[in-house]
Amino acid sequence: MILVVGHKNPDSDSICGALVAAELLKSRGLEAKPVRQGEINRETQHILATAGVDQPEFRDSVAGEKVWLVDYTDLAQAPDDINEAEILGIVDHHRLGDVMTVNPLEAWIWPVGCTCTILFNLFKMEQAEITKPLAVLMMSAILSDTVGFASPTCTQKDKDAVQELAAIAGIEDLDAFIKALLIAKTNIEGLTAAELVEKDLKAYPFNGRDVVVGQVELATLDQVDGMIEALEADLVRRCTEDKLAFAAVMLTDITTAQTRLIYKGEWAEKLVKHEQDGQLMMENTLSRKKQGWPWLQNELV
Ligand code: MG
Ligand code: MG
Ligand code: MG
Repeated sequence: MILVVGHKNPDSDSICGALVAAELLKSRGLEAKPVRQGEINRETQHILATAGVDQPEFRDSVAGEKVWLVDYTDLAQAPDDINEAEILGIVDHHRLGDVMTVNPLEAWIWPVGCTCTILFNLFKMEQAEITKPLAVLMMSAILSDTVGFASPTCTQKDKDAVQELAAIAGIEDLDAFIKALLIAKTNIEGLTAAELVEKDLKAYPFNGRDVVVGQVELATLDQVDGMIEALEADLVRRCTEDKLAFAAVMLTDITTAQTRLIYKGEWAEKLVKHEQDGQLMMENTLSRKKQGWPWLQNELV
C-alpha cells in the first residue's frame, strides 16, 4: 500500500492532488490511499462537495510506510516521521526542498501553477481514464492555486489543462465556476486570528533558524480590518513558543493583487524600512511561492 500525502495545513491542491495521484497509482495496478495531514479548509470542502468525493483519511504518521509526496518537497511540511518512511514518488511545483531518499524515486517537478496540472499530464501520458469527479478535483485545484489564472505562477499548461478538464467535467460556465470557488476561498467568517494564521502556514528553515509565513486570500482587505492587532499578537506568541526568528502572514486581496504583510520576531526590524504609514504593503503580490517568500529571503539574509 502506498500512502499519498500532501503537505501540512493542507490547501486544495494538496488534498485534490493526493486524491488524484492515488487514482493514477491505482490505474497502474498498485494499491494506493490518499491521506491528509490536517483539517480541510472551506474552499476544499466546496470542491469536494462539487466533485462528490469524500475527504482523505487523517494521518500524521507514516513510519514504515511507502509514500508519495504531493505539492511539497520540504521536510518541514512532511509528516514528522517521514525519515522512517520510504519515499517512492514526488509530484510538485515548488522549488526543490530538502527531502532525501534511500532508493531511486519517481519525481515529477514542473514549474507550473499547480500539482494537478502535472497529474493531468501524467494521466494523459499514461492514457489513464479521467472520470468526471477527477476532472472537477483537478480543475478546481488548478483554479485555486492560480487564483483563477491571475497568479504569476500560472502557465499555459495550467490554462490548457483547465480547458480540457472543464470539457470532461461538463462545466459550461467556467466564469461562474471560478466565482463560486473564489467565494469559498476567501470566506473567513468566524475564524479567529490564530486560525487565520494557521490556515495556510508554511515553515521554512532559513539561515539556521525557523521562519513561518502564512497567507490569507481575501476578496478585500477590509475583511481583516478589526483583526490586525490579534494577528500580530498571534505571530508574537508563535515566535516565543516555537523559537522562531520571524513569523509573518500575507493578507492578499486577490482582486487587486495587493498584499499587506503582518510580521513579528527578532528579524522583523529588517523590514521596517519598507513600511509606509506603519504598514508594509506589497503591490502586485499574489503568490507566496514566486513573490512573497523570494522577496522575504532577500530581505532576511
Ligand atoms: Mg499547496
Ligand atoms: Mg500547489
Ligand atoms: Mg497556495
